[in-house]
Amino acid sequence: MLLQKKQIAIIGGGPGGLTLARLLQLKGVTNAFAIKVYERDFNKNARVQGTTLDLHEESGLKALRQAQLFDEFKRNYRPGADKMIIVNENAELFFSDHEGKPEENFGSEHFRPEIDRGPLRKMLLESLQPDTVMWDRQLVSMEKNGDGWQLHFKNKTSAYADIVIGADGANSKIRPYITKSKAFYSGISGLLGSVHNPDTTVPAIHKLLKGGKIMAFGGGKNFTVASNGDGSLAFYLSYKADESRLKNIDLADKTQVLSWFKNDYAEWGNVWHGLLENAETPFMLIPIYCMPLNQNWEALPNLTMLGDAAHVMPPFAGEGVNMAMLDALELSEFLTSDKYNTLQEAISIYEINMRKRAALAAQESLENGVRMHSENALQIMLDFFSNPNFTK
Ligand SMILES: Cc1cc2nc3c(=O)[nH]c(=O)nc-3n(C[C@H](O)[C@H](O)[C@H](O)COP(=O)(O)OP(=O)(O)OC[C@H]3O[C@@H](n4cnc5c(N)ncnc54)[C@H](O)[C@@H]3O)c2cc1C
Repeated sequence: MLLQKKQIAIIGGGPGGLTLARLLQLKGVTNAFAIKVYERDFNKNARVQGTTLDLHEESGLKALRQAQLFDEFKRNYRPGADKMIIVNENAELFFSDHEGKPEENFGSEHFRPEIDRGPLRKMLLESLQPDTVMWDRQLVSMEKNGDGWQLHFKNKTSAYADIVIGADGANSKIRPYITKSKAFYSGISGLLGSVHNPDTTVPAIHKLLKGGKIMAFGGGKNFTVASNGDGSLAFYLSYKADESRLKNIDLADKTQVLSWFKNDYAEWGNVWHGLLENAETPFMLIPIYCMPLNQNWEALPNLTMLGDAAHVMPPFAGEGVNMAMLDALELSEFLTSDKYNTLQEAISIYEINMRKRAALAAQESLENGVRMHSENALQIMLDFFSNPNFTK
């Protein structure tokens, strides 16, 4: 086996890195190799920010089935969280799929169950052998050491690995050791925020939300609101803007953020203001980047990457986490296959497939981004969701 007696370092304990660790540990039942996940968060309870994630049958859910975590997923997913309404800039209702019972059609490509980031991370973490994850290990640099790599962390510790896998997200520290190619700005920027106790702080929005999602479109701008399993809600605004446009706003200052909203979302009604007024601070600025669709590089013998580190893409097709988990599944299979003579060969085939697959998903995400931020986005989305064959 190619991994025999190797020390494997996965940098980053997001969905991609943790799925890979789990799948490799399942393959290495004889403890033929050792895996460590080095994660920058201080501990497992560090806040996981963001909206819920919908997992797809052919990618995220496929990886969880292989990871023997499908039943655990079914215990943690949120039936009905995929229900949504579409509204305009004044929160007037144009579409709702809340009628009918929550779907539980596992196995159908049209069923995309939602799970919060926190529970997904928790179930992956709990599936790993004890002490697999090394917390407070923010990688700052690495250098060659014999046939492997010496890793250096911000907390001044260091570790050796024979093979390194970068799963450290969009601003990966590993990626520059593999390729010079960089992500480009998509022309769309946004803000992410969350509100606790929405039933009392933003009752009008809470009533519309009904435990699902609100997608609002108006004047080329979006406002998405999603309920979280802990009763809070997350929201995400995005619009076409110069990348520097939001950089000077103090994200800890609600007054500044509200005044930016009133200016840049001028045609939007007051109903949205409560979300910004009651949000936790700081808000998170999200300029949307995408990897070049034609990126290419020579495979290395002991270093590769997956997920956002390899192919960050706009979130408008809901593919990012699904691609990261499918990367993890495919990489675990290539690295433990007996078909390849060398690790470099296994990594090379994995990377060729991964780049091709991710480019298709990124293309779709970019196209959706254009559609969702066009002047007639509301009508486009209504036409799309009124089609009986749509996949949410
Ligand atoms: C607003 C928004 C909404 C989204 N919605 C969806 C959606 O609905 N569906 C979907 O599929 N995708 C969605 N995505 C994309 C999705 O979040 C990512 O594609 C996915 O999280 C990528 O997983 P990953 O494991 O590759 O990286 P990440 O989730 O980014 O995880 C990287 C991990 O590495 C750690 N790390 C980072 N740097 C270092 C370092 N130097 N050293 C050690 N550790 C490090 C981080 O702390 C983190 O734990 C969305 C993204 C955004 C911004």
